[in-house]
Amino acid sequence: MGSPSHPAWIVPVFLPHLGCPHRCIFCDQHLIAREATPPTPDEVRTRLEGFFRMRKRDRGRRREIAFYGGNFMGMTSEQQEAYLPGLITGEMWAGAFTEPESGSNIATIRTNAVLKDDRWVINGQKVFISLVQNSQRIVVMARTSPYDPQHRTHGISLLLGDLPDDAVRAAPFKKLGNHFMDTNRVYLTDYAVPAENIVGEEGKGWGPLYDVLNPERIILAAAAVGTGNLCIRKAVEYGLERSPWGRPIGSYQALQHPLARARVHLESAKLKVYEAAWLYDQRRDCGIPAAMAKYSAAHAALDAADWAIQVYGGAGYVIDSGIERHWRNLRLYRMSPVSDEMTLNYLAQHDLGLPRSY
Ligand SMILES: Cc1cc2nc3c(=O)[nH]c(=O)nc-3n(C[C@H](O)[C@H](O)[C@H](O)COP(=O)(O)OP(=O)(O)OC[C@H]3O[C@@H](n4cnc5c(N)ncnc54)[C@H](O)[C@@H]3O)c2cc1C
Repeated sequence: MGSPSHPAWIVPVFLPHLGCPHRCIFCDQHLIAREATPPTPDEVRTRLEGFFRMRKRDRGRRREIAFYGGNFMGMTSEQQEAYLPGLITGEMWAGAFTEPESGSNIATIRTNAVLKDDRWVINGQKVFISLVQNSQRIVVMARTSPYDPQHRTHGISLLLGDLPDDAVRAAPFKKLGNHFMDTNRVYLTDYAVPAENIVGEEGKGWGPLYDVLNPERIILAAAAVGTGNLCIRKAVEYGLERSPWGRPIGSYQALQHPLARARVHLESAKLKVYEAAWLYDQRRDCGIPAAMAKYSAAHAALDAADWAIQVYGGAGYVIDSGIERHWRNLRLYRMSPVSDEMTLNYLAQHDLGLPRSY
């Protein structure tokens, strides 16, 4: 476990969510995970039992659990014991961070939580929050003390609540793609959660949140590479069959080169994914490789999907071909969970050592 070719901890944990009987994007997206010889559900259960047998001190090092479509966080041992079995067996969680006004500048969120007796009472509005309609839990990022421009991230807390709840109203968006999940405007009105349902320390939720972001980037980059490869495979199959001029269109260099080039970029991105996953597994800093993996995978996969549509010709524009949806779904990764521009801002600052530009 933990070798670069097998991003061990990340893969087994999110795989149980992949047993989807429908042809949803989860199935297509995690091809990297499949290549890495995914464990069976029994193996996952065994790993989880092993996790709970660990000494608490050791467990702390493994406390971040990643799964796509929900979120994970730094949890206490008690919280882990209460929540991880549900997560592993397919419980869905929503993560409510983004707000209409603050957008990418997430430290300036306005949703607030006040401790009343033994409950946090949360009020505010969130936007683009996925899976709220189908989740059993929600992690809400809220201010528990006012914004201080000198210490921008102080006073932010992560609060965990159950769903559904009348105090959480969700209005779904119609979207370009990713129709397998709901994405919502969310209104929180006096949403009360138990005082102990705080993730990390009060006012210091930024740390646990950051623990989420790197594996989320790694997983989404893996998903993008998998989807990009799927598109190439479909394009090659189609290119070998379709022969409007008497020989397969796949024999034309005009189509071969872009597909081959897309493969080069996908393979390069995949190596970056494995590097970042391996560093993460080793508990080493993986921020820069994770950002690079997500950026390069998103672009490589989108290019692959675009060329797959081109190879299909008119058929590629038709929904029944099953190819255009990959392009629509992949387009998201250039802006979420972190946009291209914010990724490059981060790399310019932390990889190149240039002054922070935002
Ligand atoms: C389908 C979908 C699902 C989502 N799911 C979730 C979810 O489950 N939970 C959640 O909390 N959020 C979710 N999001 C929100 C997503 O993370 C944000 O959309 C994303 O972080 C960008 O924020 P924004 O849309 O407010 O863009 P804005 O911040 O308004 O930015 C708009 C544009 O300006 C650029 N920009 C902004 N600031 C800078 C800067 N300083 N320098 C250069 N360029 C800049 C951005 O890169 C972007 O191109 C989801 C979004 C979508 C579309």
